[in-house]
Amino acid sequence: MRRFDVETSFHFPYATFASAAAFAEFSGDSQRLFDARYAYEVALARAARENSHISPGTCGICLSQTTFSTIIPDAAPHTENPEPNWREEQVCACPERLNARFRAMLQVIDAESGLLPWMRVLVLGASQAIEQHIDVRVAAMITRRRSGRLQPATEREEAAYHLIVSSEHLHAEPMLQKTLQSMHAALMPGGKLVFTAPFDARATETRPSRPGAPGVLGWDILDRIERAGFDSAAAHLFWSEEFGYLGPFNLIFSASA
Ligand SMILES: [Zn+2]
Repeated sequence: MRRFDVETSFHFPYATFASAAAFAEFSGDSQRLFDARYAYEVALARAARENSHISPGTCGICLSQTTFSTIIPDAAPHTENPEPNWREEQVCACPERLNARFRAMLQVIDAESGLLPWMRVLVLGASQAIEQHIDVRVAAMITRRRSGRLQPATEREEAAYHLIVSSEHLHAEPMLQKTLQSMHAALMPGGKLVFTAPFDARATETRPSRPGAPGVLGWDILDRIERAGFDSAAAHLFWSEEFGYLGPFNLIFSASA
């Protein structure tokens, strides 16, 4: 199958939005492109052999020519199309086997702050896959595994970190605003927060977490981040066949303390 026409792509490999309104305007203008990408991804999934899609590309993290492989499930009965989870399951052949979300997160971290030898980094949530990558590059890496709760920031943690990386945990925080405030307090001025979480690109409001039912973030997360004291918040929308970032609405968030 011919590769997706790069000429019709935009902002390789990601587009950045500072507000829900900016994203709405962009997606209004880009609907045909989104539809074409979706049709292309469906065709790739349907053409897969032995429940796997393999494609050549370049890994933005191990910096080599590689192949990306994705598990393709059997077709869902209601759509008759397979619905692969490109975000979590498009995996690089490098030894760390990083999926699309982690590779894209590391690429945003590179762009926002880099991983520099003197940095102190706090890692929250389920992020084992990228911890070795971070740990060998920085002075200190602290991890919080379970809920990743960080509140209130202890005195020891006040302005203690240059970078907080949070992987799929903010949606599960029952006190989201307090957690964001604690994250802000734990960062040094100018420090960066980079995170992913389940996100509904059509939702203006975050659905809060309740006992037994983790929430889903909506576009108000950008305002919430700024209300927590951050200078700026942005959403980065990824799509690149070359870098192995297929799938709709693959968003990563960043903010500056
Ligand atoms: Zn790789």
